[in-house]
Amino acid sequence: MVARNIDGKKWSATVQEEIRQKIAEITKSHRPPGLGVILVGDDPASRIYVTRKEEACQKVGIHSVEITLPASTTTEEVLAHVKQLADDEAIDGILVQDPLPAGVDTRQVLLAIPPEKDVDGFHPDNVGRLSLGYPRFVACTPAGVMELLHRENVTIRGKRAVIVGRSNIVGKPMGMLLLAEDATVIQCHSRTECLPVVCSSADILVVATGRPEMVRGSWIKPGAVVIDVGISRISQGEGKKDKLVGDVCYAEAAERASLITPVPGGVGPMTIAMLLKNSLHSALWRLGL
Ligand code: NDP
Repeated sequence: MVARNIDGKKWSATVQEEIRQKIAEITKSHRPPGLGVILVGDDPASRIYVTRKEEACQKVGIHSVEITLPASTTTEEVLAHVKQLADDEAIDGILVQDPLPAGVDTRQVLLAIPPEKDVDGFHPDNVGRLSLGYPRFVACTPAGVMELLHRENVTIRGKRAVIVGRSNIVGKPMGMLLLAEDATVIQCHSRTECLPVVCSSADILVVATGRPEMVRGSWIKPGAVVIDVGISRISQGEGKKDKLVGDVCYAEAAERASLITPVPGGVGPMTIAMLLKNSLHSALWRLGL
């Protein structure tokens, strides 16, 4: 079997166009959705992510406010900016770009974001709601994976879903989302025994470890749906451009899977689309629409 690619770029563009149309409709009589982004420090990857998020906001019509702070900023100063955005009626979503510099207490900042503006879905209130079955905001990457599965009409109910990774932002919410849709979920991590055997029982395999190409073709059940969340930059030697790879060895896995997400161009583009979607939903709730 040679797998068909799940085109994350295409689905992301589709979702963004739907969001753009909805915003065009609501802004005939209401203000646009607003997203506040706080970037602390000068991590180049974080800078790129924030710029991409702002460009995406602009394209769909979300009003975005960026607050850029130096790496020397204290926790109290970050908290003051969070409060300012929390009190701003025109702001529906607040995002503090991760990672924060070592001097800033990430947990305190996360807890200061009002859950009803937590469009990243990381606040314990939102994580708790997801686990109890009445979600408000769901973390964007696992939400994006679910969107891909739905758009590709993948059957989830009754299927065995194996998730490799248990981070708070990807693995755990991924498990909760698949369980909520009646998959039989197996959550794996770095201590899981016989990982290749467990993976080879998966109808749906989601990998989020940050370990480049660790999942080999022989781990894939023939016909499985393979979702590769990982993104790692691999050096190709001096003078050559770095290569982006996932946590799954694509060439091998594509020989056995029925559907597979490529890296880049699979899960990645959906994450931003889900951030825009969460921001729109927040605005709709807050505007009473
Ligand atoms: P974390 O480092 O927070 O978590 C990694 C998880 O993988 C942990 O639960 C860890 O287990 C598990 N793990 C690590 N090594 C192994 C192993 N050898 N066997 C089994 N499990 C293992 O990473 P994230 O969840 O934040 O991200 C994972 C990947 O996804 C990264 O490549 C990241 O860049 C990418 N990512 C992509 C996004 C996108 O938009 N496309 C967004 C977010 C992340 P344990 O808990 O036991 O340590």
